[in-house]
Amino acid sequence: MKLIEFFGPSNSGKTTAISKIAEMMKAQGFSIVTLKSTHHDLNYENDSKDSMNYLKAGSSLSIVIGKNESVLHFPKRIPLFEILNRFEYDFMIIEGESGFPMPKVLFLNGKEGLEWIDDLTIAIVGDAEVAIRKIAKGDFESLYDLVISKAMEPLPGDDCGHCGLDCKTMLVKILRGEKTFNDCIKLSKQPLTIEMDGKRVPLLPFISSIVSDVNVGILKNLKGMNRSGHVKIEFDFKV
Ligand code: SF4
Repeated sequence: MKLIEFFGPSNSGKTTAISKIAEMMKAQGFSIVTLKSTHHDLNYENDSKDSMNYLKAGSSLSIVIGKNESVLHFPKRIPLFEILNRFEYDFMIIEGESGFPMPKVLFLNGKEGLEWIDDLTIAIVGDAEVAIRKIAKGDFESLYDLVISKAMEPLPGDDCGHCGLDCKTMLVKILRGEKTFNDCIKLSKQPLTIEMDGKRVPLLPFISSIVSDVNVGILKNLKGMNRSGHVKIEFDFKV
C-alpha cells in the first residue's frame, strides 16, 4: 500500500481534494483507504461527516484517529474474519499530520500554512513562491497524477537506528534519490524479499513473516531438510 499525506490549515481544501482523488482512483480501479488524523479529541459530528464523505466518494475504508480514540469506518457490514484479512489496499491518503514519515502535500489557505513546509513536503496546493512543485487549487488531475506517481510504501517508522539514521531522514534521502528502500536495514533483513525486474518490491514486515513462516512450515517436512543450515528459495515467473 502506498501512502501520501495532505496537510495544511483549516479550510484549505484538503477534504474536498481527498474526496475528489478518491473518486478518481476508484474510477481507475484502485482500492483506497482515507485516514483523518487530528491532535484533538474526536468531534463525532464533524469527523463522522468527513468520514462519510470519503466513503461516498469511493474510499474502501475510512479511518479517523483523534487524540484518544480511533475509528475504522467501512462502507458496509463486514464479517470479523474478513476485517482481519482486509488490510490490503493500493493507496492510503492521510488528512492531517500523522507524524509518520511519508511524502506530504501542503494545502495553503491563502498564504497561511507556508511555514509548515518541511523536508518531506513534495508539493503545495495553492499559490506561493516556493522551490517545490506547485498545483493550483481545483486542479485535481495534476493532484491525482502526483499521488499516483509519488505515494510510497511505508518505512517501518520505528527509528530502530540500524541504518545510522532515523526513518524520517532516510525517507528524505530516498525522496532526493540519495538512498533506496534497500538501505533500510530492517526491511532488507526480512526473511522474504521480492524483486520485479531486478527492483526490490517493498514488503510490510508482517507479510514477509507470514509468507516465510508458511513456507518454512511446509519445507521443514521435506526429505533432506532435517538438519540445520541456510535455505534460499527462488521463484521465477512472469506476471
Ligand atoms: S533501518 Fe529502517 S526502520 Fe531502522 S531507522 Fe533506518 S529506515 Fe528506519
